[in-house]
Amino acid sequence: MNLLNDNEKQYLLSKIRDVADFPQPGIVFKDITTLLKDSNAFSFLIDHLYNYYKDKDIEFVAGIESRGFIFGAALAYRLKSSFVPIRKKGKLPYTTISEKYALEYGFDEVEIHIDAFDGKDDNPNVLLIDDLIATGGTAKAAIDLINKSGANCSNACFIIDLTFLNGTDLLDKHTDIYSVLEIS
Ligand code: AMP
Repeated sequence: MNLLNDNEKQYLLSKIRDVADFPQPGIVFKDITTLLKDSNAFSFLIDHLYNYYKDKDIEFVAGIESRGFIFGAALAYRLKSSFVPIRKKGKLPYTTISEKYALEYGFDEVEIHIDAFDGKDDNPNVLLIDDLIATGGTAKAAIDLINKSGANCSNACFIIDLTFLNGTDLLDKHTDIYSVLEIS
């Protein structure tokens, strides 16, 4: 297993921009577009994830809309795995299955195509990826969707974990979690 040292973590953290009060007052939004814009930082991150996951028998990478698509598709290409999008309700064109999850106020819903994991081994290993885990609600719903779709969510990866929100507590019984950067 290949982990980043403190200097490498600092390097990546320095590429992520904090935007105060977006999308609403009180939220500090972690903007990863500044990391993507830096070709050295982006390729360093994807190469690191490739080295971390290359021997873990990942058959599918599933990215959560929308920033999970960016990291997930680049990583799937490097791993020579398939890529599957997990999208917000109403965006996928074919038959879907969906999972609701609670927000602070109300509910949201994520969907996956019913045949997303067809065509490979039975119960294939899936790596779920998103840019950030906050409360963990989105990722938990995505894991449940993957496992209901005839696949095994063996791993979950987040570029940033806002550890003070304890989101990984919702997931750690269900999958093997790796957060590249922890913000406390
Ligand atoms: P949660 O379900 O609370 O873990 O929220 C995770 C989802 O919301 C991810 O798809 C993130 O991209 C997004 N998100 C939540 N909080 C932030 C934040 N402070 N900065 C950037 N994205 C966030």
